[in-house]
Amino acid sequence: MAYQITDKCVACGLCKSACPVEAINEGTPYTIDADKCVDCGACAGECPSEAIIAG
Ligand code: SF4
Repeated sequence: MAYQITDKCVACGLCKSACPVEAINEGTPYTIDADKCVDCGACAGECPSEAIIAG
């Protein structure tokens, strides 16, 4: 399982800074590499647009 970023993403970049395993890639929307994500949820807590959901 891995967290996912929906189309609510406004590409602010706050989640990328929060991820401890560098699983988040820049883009519009940003994306999460499912092979790297350890399901910690740190990114979801930082997202101002509630774009990150548990997979
Ligand atoms: Fe990174 Fe944790 Fe978000 Fe997965 S849940 S992308 S490990 S911050």
